[in-house]
Amino acid sequence: MSTSFFCCPVCGEPLAGENTLACRNHHTFDKSKYGYVNLLLSNQSSKKRHGDDKVMVQSRSAFLEKGYYAPIRQAVLDALIQCAATGMRVLDAGCGECWYTSYFAQELAAFSPNLAGVDISKDALRHGAKRGGDAADSQALYPERQR
Ligand SMILES: [Zn+2]
Repeated sequence: MSTSFFCCPVCGEPLAGENTLACRNHHTFDKSKYGYVNLLLSNQSSKKRHGDDKVMVQSRSAFLEKGYYAPIRQAVLDALIQCAATGMRVLDAGCGECWYTSYFAQELAAFSPNLAGVDISKDALRHGAKRGGDAADSQALYPERQR
């Protein structure tokens, strides 16, 4: 059983598991078929949809894939490499469709990073999960990528 990057949004205890994350107090969070875990507590939210919707995600992905932000992504990677260490932990807060997260995972593979992205948009995380790998949580949704 692997320890998650995140803690339980109900009680704050560490979460661990593979397809279901659980804390010692038996709060459980299943990994979706898309590869992310929803840690957004339904009783804390009055909205059914959070964050960007599918059309917004597709539009942003199309823009990002054209490479306009590639120099920014590379600059962040260069900064990460300067302080890289084996097993380092990297959290992409507001990861969206994991355009940065998946690139960092690929480029930092030699360091076996514990890398996770967090976002409140299910549509973005579903898209991000398709980029390869697992994506991971917080008080929201996450694609989990560990090791
Ligand atoms: Zn708990």
